[in-house]
Amino acid sequence: MPGLPVECPHDPHVHLYGALQPSELLQLAVGRAIDWGPVAEVWHEARTTPPDFSALVAMARRDPETAGRRLAEALARLPAGTASLRARFALVHACTRWGSAAHAHWNSAVADEVEQVWSWVATRWPVEARIQLPADASERWAACALEHVAACAAKHGMTVIISLPRAAPLKHWPLVAESAHRHPTIVGVDLCGIEDEPARHAPLSAALAAWNHRFAPRRLQFAVHVGEQLDCMTPLTAIRRVWDAIAIGADRLGHALAIRLDPAAWPAGPAWQTVAERSADLQWLQWQADILELDGDAIDAELSELRVRDPHSQVGVVPADHGLVSACQETVRARLRATQRLVECCPTSNEQISGAPLARHGLKSLTGIPWVVGSDDPGLLGVTWPEECARALAVIAR
Ligand SMILES: [Zn+2]
Repeated sequence: MPGLPVECPHDPHVHLYGALQPSELLQLAVGRAIDWGPVAEVWHEARTTPPDFSALVAMARRDPETAGRRLAEALARLPAGTASLRARFALVHACTRWGSAAHAHWNSAVADEVEQVWSWVATRWPVEARIQLPADASERWAACALEHVAACAAKHGMTVIISLPRAAPLKHWPLVAESAHRHPTIVGVDLCGIEDEPARHAPLSAALAAWNHRFAPRRLQFAVHVGEQLDCMTPLTAIRRVWDAIAIGADRLGHALAIRLDPAAWPAGPAWQTVAERSADLQWLQWQADILELDGDAIDAELSELRVRDPHSQVGVVPADHGLVSACQETVRARLRATQRLVECCPTSNEQISGAPLARHGLKSLTGIPWVVGSDDPGLLGVTWPEECARALAVIAR
C-alpha cells in the first residue's frame, strides 16, 4: 500500500524533551529551586487540578518510578485541547534547566542536563530530535547550546532539527546557519508552539532557501507545526494556514490535522476572530471560488465591508458548513499532492489536542500525499512509535 508509515524507517517527529519519561523529567527537577506557581496556573487553565509538583520531585529523589507513575497519571487526566499542550509545555519548561534556567550564560549544569537527556532519549529514539532555542537566549548562550546539541547528536548517531521561537524566528538564525554549516547533524529548522500566520515566516523560509542554495547538495528542511491547534481558530483559518505553510515552502507539516479531520469531529472553536483573520480567510476563498463553486461577488462584498474596519478588532465567527469545510480540505490536499510535501501524523498527540478519535483523523484521505507516523512527545504522552504505527495501520486497514 502506498504511503504507509512502515516504509519510513525513522520516527520523524519527536521533541527531545517531550520524549522524556515523567520519572526522568522529575529527576531533572531534583535539587533545583522551582517556582511551581505558573505551572499550576496553566494546569488550572486546562481545567485540571495540578498534582503537588514539589512533593513529586521530592519523591523522585528516593523513588523515581513511583513519582513518575503519579505524574503520568496526572498528565493522563489533562483533557483534550490546546490548553493541555500548554500544561505539558509549562511542566517541561519548569523542570528543566534548558527551559527555565537563566539563558544568559551557558554553564556546565545545562550542558550536563542536555547530555543526560540525549543519552536517555537515544536508547529509545535513536533517530532525529527537535529542540527549541529559548526565545530569551543570549547570543552567547545560543551559540554554546547549538554547539553542544550538535555534538550530542553526533555522539549518539542522531540528527537534530532546531525549533525556533515563533515570536522571533530570525533572532538566532545567523548562529543556526553557521552551526548547521559546520555540523551535518543539524538537518533542519522547525516552528512549534502556539500557531500563528505562516506568512509571517516567509523571511525565515527565504533565509533557509538561501542557505540551501549556498551549501547544496546539503539541504536544511523546513518543518512547520500547522493545522494542529484546532480549538484556537475557525476551521477555515486552520485549513487556510496549511495552504499558506505550503506556499512559504514548508517541507514537513506537523500535523496538518485541519486538512484531514472529519468536519463533524472538529472541536468547538472560538466564537470570535479578528478582522485580519476573517479577511485572510475570505481572500483565500476568493482565490478558490471557482473550484469551490462559491459566489465571488458575495465574498467581495464582505471583504469590502471588512476593509474599513480595524484589522485587530473582532467579528463573530460565521459557522462554516461541513460541506464547505470538506471541500476546502480537499483543495489543500490536492495542493499537497501536487507539491509532495510531507505530512507528519502523530496519532495520540492529535487525539489529545483535538479530542477526536484516530478513526476520524482522515488518514485514508492522505492517499497520494507523502505521510509518516511520528510520536511527537512519546514520553509525556506515554506512547511508543511502533504502537503509534500499529494504530495508524489498523485504521487504514479497516
Ligand atoms: Zn510536534
